[in-house]
Amino acid sequence: MQTIRGFRDILPEHIALWQKVEKEATQLFSAFGYKEIRIPILEKTQLFARSIGEATDIVEKEMYTFPDRKGDKLTLRPEATASIVRSYVQHKMYATDPIRKFFMIGPMFRRERPQKGRYRQFYQIDAEVFGIESAYIDSELIFLLNELFKRLGLTGLSAHINSLGCPECRPGFQKNLLDLLESQKDKLCDNCLNRMNKNPLRTLDCKVQGCRDALKDAPCTIDHLCDDCSDHFNTVKQTLKKQGVDFIVDKSLVRGLDYYTRTAWEIQTTTLGAQSALAGGGRYDGLVKEIGGPQTPGIGFAIGFDRLVEVLEQIETAPKPNPLDLFVVCLGKDAMEKGYHWSCELNQKNIRTDIDFRGKSLKALMKRANKLDAEYVLIVGENELHDNAIILRNMQTKEQKTFSVETLIDELTKIFKI
Ligand code: AMP
Repeated sequence: MQTIRGFRDILPEHIALWQKVEKEATQLFSAFGYKEIRIPILEKTQLFARSIGEATDIVEKEMYTFPDRKGDKLTLRPEATASIVRSYVQHKMYATDPIRKFFMIGPMFRRERPQKGRYRQFYQIDAEVFGIESAYIDSELIFLLNELFKRLGLTGLSAHINSLGCPECRPGFQKNLLDLLESQKDKLCDNCLNRMNKNPLRTLDCKVQGCRDALKDAPCTIDHLCDDCSDHFNTVKQTLKKQGVDFIVDKSLVRGLDYYTRTAWEIQTTTLGAQSALAGGGRYDGLVKEIGGPQTPGIGFAIGFDRLVEVLEQIETAPKPNPLDLFVVCLGKDAMEKGYHWSCELNQKNIRTDIDFRGKSLKALMKRANKLDAEYVLIVGENELHDNAIILRNMQTKEQKTFSVETLIDELTKIFKI
């Protein structure tokens, strides 16, 4: 049996970097006032179709959707924002305190063509903020991302930012874009022809060279911003500049989801080949209302956790897993019984202790202690047990000490300073 294509195991020897990132992210998020939220992996298909948009790649062709036994259409979550918005609305969080900051870490599912940095089950670190329209929160989220990557020692990143406008200024832009699309119709791919009516903005994201050439003079959202959107975007840029966060205004950045308004951004890396997007985010001021809540601004980002770990693996070797404090070598049946109880007791005291139950020879067990990188070995022999003498060996200095059964745990507790 093998994993499904695009799905993979993350084995214990690779987990240290994942844990390091989780720890840094959790610490930073809580300093910025974000609370952890856990959402289901499975939701009604309608939630994603409605929020992400019918004419997006994700909804059109990448979702894992199936009917449950009653025929309800369900989908494995392809991203977290829609579910967090659903949760915010379902629990009427807006009624008690409309301002909420969440983060979550977990798997997402998209049926894309797998390649390095692109999986069908992948992990995201996600942050969302509700109830704040101010541009400072846009800057704060980009600053936070920048800070996390800095703490993790990443370099060679660039933040691309754009403003997608709002329902006020979109129509003017869309009209210009549609005029151009109409005039270039014969040069567009089938996908873009289809999107022209459903979601024209997405044509700007098309990777087909013919479309790129046809749309090279396409209008940009930032050239059509209304005064409010323009002020908002200027504040984001000025704030980031003052904070020393480097960014590039990227007029072609439209992001693949329908719900974005105003600020959108992507953090790109030069070190991952084709899969250069390390994180992406944006504002979605209409989404809470779309999902059935009151008009509430929202904004958030998602980091590609798998890609982040892949970048980190290029710059650092995975931290070594914690070595064993103590390995208990038991020679004989009575020794095994005593050793088992001591080992559990020490584990209870958070002393990393391991024991081998296979009844192997002293030589084999010492070899295993070395393999496990144990700092100390406790040797419990049948004869020594009779004489009330347990040997503790420091594996580095080779120094040996003898303890009595009665004082053993106390002595070990002292050595490991618990
Ligand atoms: P998105 O939700 O599409 O904005 O994606 C946010 C981030 O998740 C991207 O910048 C990628 O780093 C990561 N990501 C998206 N899709 C995948 C995938 N199929 N495999 C691995 N990482 C992904």
